[in-house]
Amino acid sequence: MSEDFLQKDVRYVKGVGEKRADVWADAYGVRTVRDLLHFYPRRYLDRSTITPVRQLREDPEPVTVVGTVQSTQIVPGKSQKRFELILEGEQGGRMKCTWFQGLWWVRKAFETGDQVAFHGTVEKYGRWFSMTHPDFDRLEDDAILDTGRIVPLYPGGEAMENVGLTSRSIRRIIYDLFKEHGLKLQETFPERLVERFDLMEGRVALRAIHFPKRQAERARAERRLKFEELFFIQLMLAQMRRQQEEVAGPEFDDPGDYTQKFVHEVLPFELTGAQKRALRDVTDDTQTGVQMNRLVQGDVGSGKTVVAVAAMLHAYDSGYQSAFMAPTELLAEQHYQNLMEYLRPLGLMPHLLVGGQAKSERTAILKDLAEGRVPVAIGTHALIQEEVAFDELGLAVVDEQHRFGVAQRAEIFEKGTQPHMLLMTATPIPRSLAMTLYGDLDVSKIDEMPPGRKPVETRLRAEKRRGEVYAFLRDRLEQGQQAYVVYPLVEESEKVDLKDAESGHADLQAQFPDYNVGLVHGQMSSDQKDNAMSQFKDGVIDILVSTTVIEVGVDVPNATVMLIEHAERFGLSQLHQLRGRVGRSDQQSYCILMAAYKRSNEAKQRLEAMVRTTDGFEISETDLRIRGAGDFFGTRQSGMPDLKIADITQDTDILEEARTAAFDLVESDPHLRADEHARLRRRYEASYAEEGLGFARVG
Ligand code: ADP
Ligand code: MG
Repeated sequence: MSEDFLQKDVRYVKGVGEKRADVWADAYGVRTVRDLLHFYPRRYLDRSTITPVRQLREDPEPVTVVGTVQSTQIVPGKSQKRFELILEGEQGGRMKCTWFQGLWWVRKAFETGDQVAFHGTVEKYGRWFSMTHPDFDRLEDDAILDTGRIVPLYPGGEAMENVGLTSRSIRRIIYDLFKEHGLKLQETFPERLVERFDLMEGRVALRAIHFPKRQAERARAERRLKFEELFFIQLMLAQMRRQQEEVAGPEFDDPGDYTQKFVHEVLPFELTGAQKRALRDVTDDTQTGVQMNRLVQGDVGSGKTVVAVAAMLHAYDSGYQSAFMAPTELLAEQHYQNLMEYLRPLGLMPHLLVGGQAKSERTAILKDLAEGRVPVAIGTHALIQEEVAFDELGLAVVDEQHRFGVAQRAEIFEKGTQPHMLLMTATPIPRSLAMTLYGDLDVSKIDEMPPGRKPVETRLRAEKRRGEVYAFLRDRLEQGQQAYVVYPLVEESEKVDLKDAESGHADLQAQFPDYNVGLVHGQMSSDQKDNAMSQFKDGVIDILVSTTVIEVGVDVPNATVMLIEHAERFGLSQLHQLRGRVGRSDQQSYCILMAAYKRSNEAKQRLEAMVRTTDGFEISETDLRIRGAGDFFGTRQSGMPDLKIADITQDTDILEEARTAAFDLVESDPHLRADEHARLRRRYEASYAEEGLGFARVG
């Protein structure tokens, strides 16, 4: 079987055709024969994995049941219509399946007497065991389960069903493909690698993933294909890393007067050991003549910004400019304020470049940048992505790097100049994710907080204790401290949420007439926002009410209370970030989570985690567990690879092996020139190298 055949358009495969091909491509990106072979079952059905309906009990773990549709009906309901289906188990027993959405479609999908497999979590309502919006497959194959086979179930959906792409027809299509073409695929990996990692042969694995004879065989096939998927990502990272090692970067001098003065005279404190180590890493990297690609990881408040400022001054000492990039304009402005304070005593001025600036002002700044009169430019990521010209850009600092993916890094990398890259993140990343997202970077950890910090005390409160919460707040204010009150902002309903924040603001003003209550939200102009923020910073405002715009980077050490309204609506990392706004001095600080009693299971876990720990690592592990890897960073935003079969959070062992294999390979044969690597190289070039590194592209 040739590479050509694998690249063939899937529409020419028997049983597919134009219409199905279009839908398949849209829904799952299946375009070529290869894509088809790698269109993996989402689950398997066999006798051993089915729970008899009679033995159902409430369980958070999903189960699979099989039975016959006994009746279906649309139930009017008080506020919302729903579709209910009664299923009779093969060996007796009945259960209910309920849908609140897509009623029209599901009603069409089932008829009395249909044989169906349902998959979902079981809850008990009244006397009924019930699944809500279960995943399902119609078992039209003649008694497919009686043959003792393991039956693959494929990803589906309405569009797929509409053109007849059901698990059944997909099975047929793939089965025929194997039968007709034999699919004598050649092994991609060199023999040594297959042996070393004890992998199932590629073609055997592909057949077994679709049509396993035994679960053990399926498991081995799965391991092979996961390995393969992760291997190519690691190969790409290994290549990037190698290439980077060959890229020349500006060669900085020893840190000069500006750097020394900043560290020893301007800063009112001594750097922590961890800050010193990170700074030393950066200083060393920037003097080698090779481009630096370093990630600085440290919890909120660990003092990353200070390290970045020292690095930028080091650049300036060496005759280079720096760019400082933040994920949002508000944060850019916030950093601008901070940087001004740091740089002013040195007689330097940073420049801010954001949207909404007057054209003349912008033109002037761009001119100053291009002519090298500006030591430090601050802005959003647009700063480097647009055609902003620097005279001599020596260092690019990217704050909150977790929102900035591999693909975007590659974009910067493609630009002509190769400034040193200093990436900063407050999200402690579990190792498996770090290996995938940042596998091409060097990492410095700031794992030590500035001295005297006390962990923030976190409390969960319901509405009926609001009086108590306000009394506590008053007590803090009387001691001269300040507070944040944060409201959630959901994009789709900005207006509603704004109203929330506005009425909260009015309410607090009424409750605390003798204090100054400020308001800041996303729909204010940047001048208004700046104004409110600086009044808060100067202590003119005592309570700052805001939507989540203050999420990261804001620094007001005298603020010791973070009150979060509707805390159940926030993500865990976001809650942790918000909490990081307090606890920035030697005063005891508090985080109060106001939450409705009615909480989803996930919300409950998030709030409990917040109360349980202030450790950023534990928080992010929990977050990852609750949400799964896909959501953790958001594929689109972060450049997380879009994985078909491997799960980065689960398959850490395979990931480690794949990484070892890929890095060893690149070390021994950097350009994959050896004969035994020819197929591997072709596969890599065909599937990964061209289309933007095979990673989800951003913007
Ligand atoms: P991060 O960016 O990691 O969240 P920042 O750089 O904003 O943290 O620092 C948080 C706060 O801690 C700031 O008020 C900063 O001035 C202060 N800070 C930073 N380093 C130290 C240190 N070594 N000792 C005392 N305070 C520090
Ligand atoms: Mg910061």
